[in-house]
Amino acid sequence: MSLRIVVCVKYVPDATGDRHFAEDLTVDRDDVDGLLSELDEYAVEQALQIADEADDAEITVLTVGPEDAKDALRKALSMGADKAVHVEDDDLHGTDALGTSLVLAKAVEKTGYDLVVCGMASTDGTMGVLPAMLAERLGVPQVSLLSEVSVEDGTVKGRRDGDSATEQLEARLPAVVSVTDQSGEARYPSFKGIMAAKKKPVTSWDLEDLEIESDEVGLEGAWTAVEGATERPARTAGTIVKDEGEGGKQLAAFLAERKFI
Ligand SMILES: Cc1cc2nc3c(=O)[nH]c(=O)nc-3n(C[C@H](O)[C@H](O)[C@H](O)COP(=O)(O)OP(=O)(O)OC[C@H]3O[C@@H](n4cnc5c(N)ncnc54)[C@H](O)[C@@H]3O)c2cc1C
Repeated sequence: MSLRIVVCVKYVPDATGDRHFAEDLTVDRDDVDGLLSELDEYAVEQALQIADEADDAEITVLTVGPEDAKDALRKALSMGADKAVHVEDDDLHGTDALGTSLVLAKAVEKTGYDLVVCGMASTDGTMGVLPAMLAERLGVPQVSLLSEVSVEDGTVKGRRDGDSATEQLEARLPAVVSVTDQSGEARYPSFKGIMAAKKKPVTSWDLEDLEIESDEVGLEGAWTAVEGATERPARTAGTIVKDEGEGGKQLAAFLAERKFI
């Protein structure tokens, strides 16, 4: 039987762009370009490698996000995933981590899965909590933060490198794993891959398709609230120290004044 792999990928605002909050303190996504979270490229890569080793496997990439999140799905498809699922609904505006995990869990269940592969964290929210929440909602084991991962005889195995120890972990499928940026460079989409991605199926679901009530998600259903946000102060012109014999002392004084030394 085919190994069904679902990779959760997030469409995130480009970190090099200027990001702003809207009046309701949600991120103003119209204001900035987005892209596939770089850390999720590692998840796609590991799923592709697991699929290569399996006799028969199918990779579905899944995102919860706005219309433009399809760009993230297309990139993952051009890397080699087989099909994609996009969950979008106006009522998702303001959804927090618990709400996102609910939507992902329902979408994963509807897709059908043996293994869910996530990134270690998104590059915007960076909470790193979604894989654990997702596993709990699905009622399956989670093996998180793996820098090496493989599947053999219905078991997912992996290596987690910690500060004081390296652990070898395994769990019976179905399971959720998350992989780190040490798991291996993600491949670049080839020209052939980019052309093939255009023909791969992308299924769109809304909350009704997933049997989720609108008050379970969005700002209304959120368990967390953003109370305030302050814009980063504009950059000021730097200080140029001209070395006329006293440069070192001036540098030291500059750093000491700002308590760097
Ligand atoms: C439609 C929408 C509206 C949102 N509105 C707000 C808002 O108003 N205010 C606010 O503070 N936050 C908002 N968020 C952000 C959301 O709460 C967080 O993105 C979410 O809780 C995940 O947290 P994180 O980014 O820290 O993920 P992490 O826990 O760091 O992510 C770990 C991994 O989980 C997977 N993952 C995470 N998010 C997604 C996703 N969306 N789709 C697929 N896989 C994913 C990826 O594999 C990722 O590497 C919104 C998100 C969505 C999708």
